[in-house]
Amino acid sequence: MKLTIPSQVQLGCRTFRIRISEKILKEVNCKGQLIDKEELIRLSRRSPASMFESLVHEIMHSIFYMCALDENPGIDESKIIPMSIFFAQAIMSLGVEPVFDEIPEEEK
Ligand SMILES: [Zn+2]
Repeated sequence: MKLTIPSQVQLGCRTFRIRISEKILKEVNCKGQLIDKEELIRLSRRSPASMFESLVHEIMHSIFYMCALDENPGIDESKIIPMSIFFAQAIMSLGVEPVFDEIPEEEK
């Protein structure tokens, strides 16, 4: 079933914007990025499966931080990389087909 990914996600009591940010991510050589202070998740445009994995990855960073499993958002890659790959794969194996058509470009 197709799942249109909305332009924001609720993480605890906070609402994070989800935006396409090709230029900035190219500069830092990343596929995705969590900017905790700005409540922003940046994604680059790739296949839906790859974008979904990046979205889950950035959400995991926030969850680790909120659950005090990580001192800073964006540090603990060794656990988050495999966890997000397995979790995204499991969700898609349930028949979820993520669609990113409604994610806007990041505002300047
Ligand atoms: Zn990461």
